[in-house]
Amino acid sequence: MSSQPTLHAVEPSICFLDTVASLQTSFKSGKTRSLEWRKSQLEALKRLLIENEKDILHALHQDLGKSESEAYVAEHGFLLSDIKHTLKHLNKWMQPRKVSTPLIAWPGKSFQQPEPLGTVLIIGAWNYPLQLLLAPYIAALAAGNCAVLKPSELAVETSTIVAKLIPQYMDTSCVEVIEGGKEESSALLACKWDHIFYTGGEAVGKIVMSAAARHLTPVTLELGGKSPCIVDSSTNLKITARRIVWGKWMNAGQTCIAPDYVLVVKGFEQKLIDAIKKELKSQFGKNPFSSKDYGNIINTRHLHRLQGYLDGVNVVYGGDINEARPAMTPTLVLDPAKDSAIMQEEIFGPILPIVPVASIDEAIGFINDRPKPLALYAFSDDDKALNNIIEKTSSGSVCTNDTMIFMTNPELPFGGVGNSGMGSYHGQAGFDTFSHVKTVMKRAFALDAPVRYAPFSKFKLSL
Ligand code: NAD
Repeated sequence: MSSQPTLHAVEPSICFLDTVASLQTSFKSGKTRSLEWRKSQLEALKRLLIENEKDILHALHQDLGKSESEAYVAEHGFLLSDIKHTLKHLNKWMQPRKVSTPLIAWPGKSFQQPEPLGTVLIIGAWNYPLQLLLAPYIAALAAGNCAVLKPSELAVETSTIVAKLIPQYMDTSCVEVIEGGKEESSALLACKWDHIFYTGGEAVGKIVMSAAARHLTPVTLELGGKSPCIVDSSTNLKITARRIVWGKWMNAGQTCIAPDYVLVVKGFEQKLIDAIKKELKSQFGKNPFSSKDYGNIINTRHLHRLQGYLDGVNVVYGGDINEARPAMTPTLVLDPAKDSAIMQEEIFGPILPIVPVASIDEAIGFINDRPKPLALYAFSDDDKALNNIIEKTSSGSVCTNDTMIFMTNPELPFGGVGNSGMGSYHGQAGFDTFSHVKTVMKRAFALDAPVRYAPFSKFKLSL
């Protein structure tokens, strides 16, 4: 994205050391460690979501114009499924993970024991302002941590409702919501945490990582980038267009794993464009601004950023804006220059460049010449071609013959690689992210083999 925040942390004029100290005291009391506490907190969060569903969906609508069903599927309902999955598996995740013990350490037992990290900071982004704040919190709770939640200041209504509801439902000695923007984030980042979990853009990711380095705090960075989508001419055109439209224009394209651009095999581009246009009309009607299922752009600053991408490129569909909402119609751009802003920056909005390439191999080369993406999509009826793409490219996730649907599987860790981030979460991956998996070896006093100790015999001891 082009809107670059200041690349250095501002000197904070506020201080959260007392907040952190108080959470650390709660953590040290040991109360967060039991299965009962963790389960009771997850149940409380579930109640918070269920009892306030209407107000939460309303806040998401106010912030991003999300329809009720989209807000439910991608945020509210997503979190309820995440809690359900976590409650079902938590006991098992908490158990020691046994491994074998070598002969030299017999009799003995070896295992890995997950333990909570302590007090963690979770910084959310504005595009899925509820999900991206509370899904890491579910993982942090499951792993037995105290947490500070920092919602994005750009999604004002969601930030407000989260700050209001969390203290009403959760154990307030173990969680605090701090609202605010750069100043509050900087003050939070100045504190010492046991883990920082950040979702947002790359530039702030660097600020987070350098602030964490001062305290040697581990970080998870859920960043973004340009997620490509390859389309082969053998594909099922209708379903391909339908699934690209679903993945690209959900939340008006403001999704970190939305297809950013399409690489289509030359000669097939017009068919694909026609199929996408047809699908857009069927999903959002002739006038998307009057569709209740078509979302807004978060603010006019971002709307103007998106408008800027259309300068000097071949817009073959859409490109209309509505300042009042603010919103932009679904927009298709054909073959923009590789050095244009639209092909250099993460679009994060409802514009889809269609880039013809000579072959699938050229598409693979194109992707490998650029920073590693968060997600990669490929559509083809040829399984060999799909396997080739999976094997020869690197991305946080890859999904073939569909777009963002892989996010619905809690068994699949979600995270980036290279510039798209580090670390992962969802399901057990999230539990592990917020745990230290401690190595334990338990020995007995029997069979104390003298060969280990000096003076050593001439025989080599194999460990
Ligand atoms: P944003 O503006 O909401 O910022 C994210 C968080 O960083 C906010 O809480 C904000 O207060 C904080 N922040 C902003 N400036 C700061 C500073 N100077 N110092 C400290 N903290 C600061 O989000 P954004 O960056 O506009 O988000 C969009 C980006 O996030 C896109 O690149 C998108 O791909 C990425 N994203 C990634 C994921 C993922 O799961 N990987 C999900 C959503 C968004």
